[in-house]
Amino acid sequence: MSLHKSHTCGKIRFRDHREAVTALHSVATLRKRAEEEMLPTRRREVRTYECDACHGYHLTSMAA
Ligand SMILES: [Zn+2]
Repeated sequence: MSLHKSHTCGKIRFRDHREAVTALHSVATLRKRAEEEMLPTRRREVRTYECDACHGYHLTSMAA
């Protein structure tokens, strides 16, 4: 069993759920700021999920 199978799915990978949630919070802050200033933003991530391909965590804009 290899523990170094990162980047197998090509997405930004977080080591654990806590790290992904921290990233999600910073995205939410950026998005809120952009909305307040009427700036366009493409950051729509709303939740985290565990990835079967790389066994890390990712952010997604798709609702559960
Ligand atoms: Zn993955």
